[in-house]
Amino acid sequence: MGLIFYSEKCMACGQCVEACPFGVLLLTGDTLIIGEGCNLCGACVEVCEVEALALPETAGPSPRPGVPPDGVWVFAEQRRGELAPVTAELLGEARRLADTLNVKVAAVLLGDGVAHLGDALLAAGAHKVYLAEHPRLQDFLEETYAAALTEMAQKFQPEIILAGATYLGRAFIPRVAAALKTGLTADCTAFGIDPEKRLLLQTRPAFGGNIMATIITPRTYPQMATARPGVFKHLAAAAAPTGEVVPVELMSLAKPPRSRFAGTVLEIKERVPLSAAEVIVAGGRGLKEAKNFKLLEELADLLGGAVGATRGAVDAGWIPYAHQIGQTGKTVSPKLYIAVGLSGATQHLVGMQSSDFIVAINKDPQAPIFQVADVGLVGDLFEIVPALIQEIRKDRNLAVSG
Ligand SMILES: Cc1cc2nc3c(=O)[nH]c(=O)nc-3n(C[C@H](O)[C@H](O)[C@H](O)COP(=O)(O)OP(=O)(O)OC[C@H]3O[C@@H](n4cnc5c(N)ncnc54)[C@H](O)[C@@H]3O)c2cc1C
Repeated sequence: MGLIFYSEKCMACGQCVEACPFGVLLLTGDTLIIGEGCNLCGACVEVCEVEALALPETAGPSPRPGVPPDGVWVFAEQRRGELAPVTAELLGEARRLADTLNVKVAAVLLGDGVAHLGDALLAAGAHKVYLAEHPRLQDFLEETYAAALTEMAQKFQPEIILAGATYLGRAFIPRVAAALKTGLTADCTAFGIDPEKRLLLQTRPAFGGNIMATIITPRTYPQMATARPGVFKHLAAAAAPTGEVVPVELMSLAKPPRSRFAGTVLEIKERVPLSAAEVIVAGGRGLKEAKNFKLLEELADLLGGAVGATRGAVDAGWIPYAHQIGQTGKTVSPKLYIAVGLSGATQHLVGMQSSDFIVAINKDPQAPIFQVADVGLVGDLFEIVPALIQEIRKDRNLAVSG
C-alpha cells in the first residue's frame, strides 16, 4: 500500500514536493503525482499542514513496502587511485549490518581512472560497486563529490550510507545528508541494528567523551553516518570475489562546479603511520619530558611499531600532534598497544580500547588504564621500559647497554 493522498484537503502549497528527499512527488495544478520511488519515509506527511497526506497504517520507517532497499552503501574513499584503509574497515562492518538486515552491500566509487579498484572493493566485502568515472571527479572537490553521491542515492535509494570520518568524508558527507534531507551522525565508533524497525544504531562519544550516545534516524532515508578510521575490523580479503561493477552516468557532472581545484599540499607524516601500525608504544605525561620519548622510540623500533601519545604529552610540546591518540586525535586498533606513563582518561581510551592486546605500565595501581589492560605492570616506567628493551635485545642477540 502506498502513500495516502486526500485531494479534497490539499491546498496545492507544494511543501510536500520540496520536502521529498527522493524527488518523487510532482504537483500539477492541484493534483499530486506520487512517483514510483516513494519509500514512505514520511517527510511529506510531516510538513503537510492540512493533513492531506498520510502513511498507510502498516508503514513504519522501514522496510519500505514496494521498494526493495538497495542495502548498505559504503563510500569508497580513494586518493590518487589508492583506497583509504577505512574503506575496507567499513565494508567489513557493512557486511555485518547487511547480514542482519538481509540486504546487500554496495561500494560507491567516484574518481577518474579508478575502475581498477573495483575488484579490491568486491574482495573487501562489497556485493556490488557503483562506479562513476569522470574527469571532474579526478581531484576531490566537496561540491562535485557531494552532488555525485547525492544523485546516486536518489537514483538507487540505499537504506544506509556509511563513510569514513576522514578529512574527506567530514568535508562532503554533511552536504550529501543535507541535500537528501536526512540525518547524519558523525564520527561513530560502533554500529548496531534494531532488526524490528530496521534502524541503524549509531554510537559515538558525546559530551567530551564522557558518555557514549546511540543515535537513530527514525523518519528519514537514507540513514547516514561517518565512522572513525581504525575502529572497525576489515574482513579477510576474498580470494575469488564475486559481484558486479555497475558503471553509472551522472547528470550532475555535466555542470561545471563553482569551486576550482587549486592543488594538494601533502601533510608531514609521522615515522610509521599510526593507523597502519600493528604495534604502538604510547606515552603520556608520566614521561616527564620530551627527551624521554626516545625510550619509547627505541622500544617501538625493536617491535617494528609506531609511537603514540596522549594529548597531555602533545600539549606539553613533547611530541607532534600527528602522534596523538584519542577523541581529538587518531583512533587506532593495533595488535599490541603498550601504554606507558599515561592515566587512561576516557578521551584517550576511545581512541585505543579496541586494540587486540593492551599492556599498561604505570606507577599508580589505581590508574584507569589498568581497567582496559590485558597485562598491567605497576611500577616506574624508567625502570620497566629499559628492562624490557634489554630483554628484547638479549633475546635477539643484539648489543645490550649498561
Ligand atoms: C574535549 C577533550 C578532548 C580530549 N582529547 C584527548 C585525546 O584525543 N587524547 C588524549 O590522550 N587525551 C585527550 N584529552 C585529555 C584527557 O582528558 C587527559 O587529560 C589526558 O589524556 C591525560 O594525559 P596523560 O594520561 O598523559 O596524563 P595524566 O592523566 O597526568 O597521567 C599521567 C600518568 O603517568 C603516570 N606516571 C607518572 N610518572 C610515572 C612513572 N615514572 N612511571 C610510570 N607511570 C608514571 C601517573 O601515575 C599517571 O597515571 C581530551 C580532553 C578533553 C576535555
